[in-house]
Amino acid sequence: MVARAARAADLADLDAGVSDCFACPRLVEWREGVARTRRASFRDQEYWGRPVPGFGASDARIAILGLAPAAHGGNRTGRIFTGDRSGDVLFAALHRAGLANQPTSVAADDGLALRDIRIFSAVRCAPPDNKPTPQERDTCAPWLHREVSLIRPTLRVVVALGAFAWAAWWPVLRQVYGLRPPSPRPAFGHGAHWSGTAAPDLLGSYHVSQQNTFTGRLTPKMLDDVFDQAKQLAEVD
Ligand code: SF4
Repeated sequence: MVARAARAADLADLDAGVSDCFACPRLVEWREGVARTRRASFRDQEYWGRPVPGFGASDARIAILGLAPAAHGGNRTGRIFTGDRSGDVLFAALHRAGLANQPTSVAADDGLALRDIRIFSAVRCAPPDNKPTPQERDTCAPWLHREVSLIRPTLRVVVALGAFAWAAWWPVLRQVYGLRPPSPRPAFGHGAHWSGTAAPDLLGSYHVSQQNTFTGRLTPKMLDDVFDQAKQLAEVD
C-alpha cells in the first residue's frame, strides 16, 4: 500500500488506489459491517462501504484535513463529509465563504463543486466510535502524504478540523516538505495558527461534529472566521 500511494501519478490515480485499500483489518471489517447492516433511515440505500478519497479542486490553495469518514456519512455516500450533520455545517460555511457552489452536500452526484479547496481526512475509512488507533493512523498516512504532494504546487493553507487532524499534519512536514516539525509541537486550539515558511500555514478549528455544533462550542461565526483567515493567508478572493 505504501508503494501504491507513492506511485500514484495524479489525484485520480490516488483516489482509485485509496478506494481499493484493505490495509487495516479492523477498519475493513467495520466499514463493510456498517454497509451491510445500515441505519434504518438509509435501509433502502446501497452504502459505499469503502475508503473515502479526498474531494475538491486539484489546484487547491486551501486544504481541509479531517479525522475520518462518518459511518453513515462518507461511508454511505462515498464522498467525504457528504450526507451527515457535520457536512451540513461544513458545506454551508464553505458556501458562505464562496468556496462551494451550493450549501448542501447530500450525495456524490448532487452537483457540488469546490473552488480553491480540497477536503481529505487523516484516516480514509470510517472507524468505530470515530476513533482510529495510532497504528491505523500511521498505516493510512501515506495516502495523505501523497495527496499533499500532488497539490503541493498550489497549496498554501491547511485547516485542521480537531486535534487528531492537527497532530496528523506534523509528519507531513517531514515526508512531503523535507522539514523537521517544530518541537515542541504547537498546541491545538480553535484559532491556533502555525506559520510555515517553506510549508503551508496550519490553522486549527474545532471539528464540525454535532458534539461541537449542537452545543455551541463551534458556531457558524467561528467557522466563518477560520475560513476568512484561510482565504486571506492563501490569497483567495
Ligand atoms: S484506513 Fe487507510 S490504510 Fe487503513 S484500510 Fe482504510 S484506506 Fe487503507
